[in-house]
Amino acid sequence: MKPIKIAIDGPAGAGKSTIAKQIADKLDIIYLDTGAMYRAIALKCLQNNIDLEDTEAILRLLNNTQIDVEFQNNIQSVILDGIDISDEIRTTEVSNIASYIAKIPDVRKKLASMQRKIGRDKSIIMDGRDIGTYVLPNADIKIFLTASLEERAKRRWLEYRSKGECKDLDFVKREIEQRDRSDSTRKFAPLKKADDAIVIDTTDKSIEQVVDTIMQIINSRISTS
Ligand code: C5P
Repeated sequence: MKPIKIAIDGPAGAGKSTIAKQIADKLDIIYLDTGAMYRAIALKCLQNNIDLEDTEAILRLLNNTQIDVEFQNNIQSVILDGIDISDEIRTTEVSNIASYIAKIPDVRKKLASMQRKIGRDKSIIMDGRDIGTYVLPNADIKIFLTASLEERAKRRWLEYRSKGECKDLDFVKREIEQRDRSDSTRKFAPLKKADDAIVIDTTDKSIEQVVDTIMQIINSRISTS
C-alpha cells in the first residue's frame, strides 16, 4: 500500500500531540512531533547564551548542531548532539525561544527538509504549524485542530500542574496568546490552515471523540483512494 501522509496543524494547546500519538498507534505508523525539533535548537541557544537578536549566531549554532530523531515503538526521542533532551525541552522558556527562532526562514528551511527526509517513503503523521502548508503540501489528509483560548490555556495549566509546576491561569493564557501571535504573524511558513485542511474544534470534545472523527476521515479517504 502507498505510504500515507497525515498533517496535523494548529495553535498551542489544541491537543495536536495527544491526538496525533493515538492515531499513530491505531495505524501503527510513525508520529513526528516537529515542535520538538524547534525546541531542541531553542534549548541549545539557551545553553549557549545566544543573543536571540543575532540571527547569524543562531544559524552558526544550527550548522554546528546534530539533531537526531529516534523512534522506539513509535515513540519519539530527540537527541541533541548525542544527548537525549526529550524531557528538558518541555519548559515555558524553551517554548518561547522556540517560537522566536521559528521566525527565521533558514531555521525553518533546514528543519522542514529534515522532517521531509524522516517521512520519506514511509507512512507518517506529523504535527506542527506548517505541515499542511509547507512541509507536506501534498499530504493525503490535513487536519487543523483548534480550541478556544480559554480551553487551551486550561489544558496547559493542568499539564503544568501534573508536573508539579503551579502557574497562574491568566499567565498561561497570556503566554499561549503571545506564542500564537508570533507563530501566525511570521512571514515565512506561518501557523495557518491549509486551504484543503479539515478544521476540528476540540473545545467541547473528548480526546476519544476527536480521535474517532479523524479515524473516520482517514478510513473514508483510504477506502476511496
Ligand atoms: O508544538 P510545540 O508547542 O512544541 O512547538 C514549539 C514552537 O515551535 C511553536 O510555538 C512554534 O513557534 C514552533 N514550531 C513551528 N513549526 C512547527 C512546529 C513548531 O514554528 N512545525
